[in-house]
Amino acid sequence: MIYRERAWWDSSGLPRLGYIVPRLNRAELLVHHTVTIDPDPSPLVWETDQEIKDHMLRLQTIRPDLDLDIPYNFVAFITPTGLVICEGRGIDRTGAHTHGHNTVGLATSFAGNFEAYGIPAGWVVPELNQWFRYLKILCVNLGPIYGHRDFAQTACPGNNLYVTKPFWSWAPVEEDDMATLDADDLQKIEDLFIRVLRSEASGEFDVGGMRKDVKAIKAAPPGGISVAQLEASLAKKTWR
Ligand SMILES: [Zn+2]
Repeated sequence: MIYRERAWWDSSGLPRLGYIVPRLNRAELLVHHTVTIDPDPSPLVWETDQEIKDHMLRLQTIRPDLDLDIPYNFVAFITPTGLVICEGRGIDRTGAHTHGHNTVGLATSFAGNFEAYGIPAGWVVPELNQWFRYLKILCVNLGPIYGHRDFAQTACPGNNLYVTKPFWSWAPVEEDDMATLDADDLQKIEDLFIRVLRSEASGEFDVGGMRKDVKAIKAAPPGGISVAQLEASLAKKTWR
C-alpha cells in the first residue's frame, strides 16, 4: 500500500473543502465506489501514477453539484502492485458522500465501477483492512464499517465490492497471525469474484499474478508505509 498526499496529485489550485472534524468524533468507516473506470482493457486496475493523478483531478470537478472537490476523504486505486490511497478531503474534513454521515464517517472510495466489474484479486480486501487499521489507530473511536448502500438507495459501492463486506475489519493483527484473513477466507473472497475482469480472458491482465501472499504484504509491503510514517504524513496537512 502506498499513501499519496494531496500535494502529490492536486495541481489544480482548487481549495480543500469541508469543515474540520476532530478525530475523536469519527465513529464510522464508509466504503464507496466512484463508478468511473480506467478506460482500458483492465477497467479497475490503474497501471501508472499519471493515470491516478489525472483521475483524481477529474473526480475533483466531475460533480459540480457537490462542489469542486473530491467528495470523499480518500480514494483507493487498485494497481498491479497494491493499493494506492490518495488523500481527498483528508482525515480531518467533512465529506460530501453520504447524507447524514459526512461528519461522523470517514469515507474511502474505490476508483472504479464494482457493479459492472469484479475485484481483480483477493489481496484487495486484506490491504483495505490494513488501511482501516491505520485509520483506527489515528481515529480511535471508529466503529462499524458500512457500504454507502447501507444508508441510501444506491448500488454504491457496487455489488462485487459489497459482497466482501463480511471480511472488512480494522481489527488488529496478532504478530504471529500474519493476516486478518486466512487462506480459506481468501479463497471465499475469490469465489465471490464471479464477474472477474474481462481482461482476464484477453490475457491483458494476469489475475493470478496479482494475487499476493498476504504474509508478504504484512512483512514487507512494496512501497509500503509504516504507521509512524502515515501518522506523520496525516498529522500536518489538512488545515489548508
Ligand atoms: Zn457512494
